[in-house]
Amino acid sequence: MTSTPEVKNRAHQLVEAARQLFVAGVMSHSGHANLSVRLDADRFLLTPGFVRDLEPDQLATVGLDGRVLEGELRSVSAEIITMHSAVYRARPQAGAVIHTHSPAATAFAVAHRPLPCRTEPMLRFGQPEEVPVVPWGPRGSDVSVRGVAEVLERRPTTSAVLLANHGLLVFGPDAAAAAHLVVAVEESAEAEIAAAAIGGAVDFPAGALAAVRASIARVAA
Ligand SMILES: [Zn+2]
Repeated sequence: MTSTPEVKNRAHQLVEAARQLFVAGVMSHSGHANLSVRLDADRFLLTPGFVRDLEPDQLATVGLDGRVLEGELRSVSAEIITMHSAVYRARPQAGAVIHTHSPAATAFAVAHRPLPCRTEPMLRFGQPEEVPVVPWGPRGSDVSVRGVAEVLERRPTTSAVLLANHGLLVFGPDAAAAAHLVVAVEESAEAEIAAAAIGGAVDFPAGALAAVRASIARVAA
């Protein structure tokens, strides 16, 4: 990996985000995940096919056109390059993309149920709207990637999608923000399922997002 200070910094942020996801207990039980950070308009760093005990110099540099420019990818990661590219193409502001099978979020993906925004962390950390479901297609296939692109076009402000019968795909301005949102989505999915046993989750009152934004602005002032 070409190690300019900026590339090193982003690689470090990606590895730290992966570590945080393990600490938070939101990773797939198998440890399966793939994470990427954007380097510029044409390139991103991608995990090599594993994330446990990952080191920054193990990340591969990949072009948005799908070419591996530097480093090596296991076939499991090569398959999902186009899924990450689709997000970077659809969202010029996206700086990082995370895919894993967080268990409760995956329950919604398996049930083909969009995940409503009914928890404070989801409202606050970048997903003040329901997480939509992308129709199933084999991982990394044209069908799957086209499905992601179509949903991102139809839902221009969503920062997360559920991949039907598969898992979760989240993105954000940087790796830490995307990791925060994975945790918020998984917590929300757990809370929805738990609340279903006691009468069901309830929507926020009207104006909740504006109230949260005003509260954040007050603290920042
Ligand atoms: Zn997966």
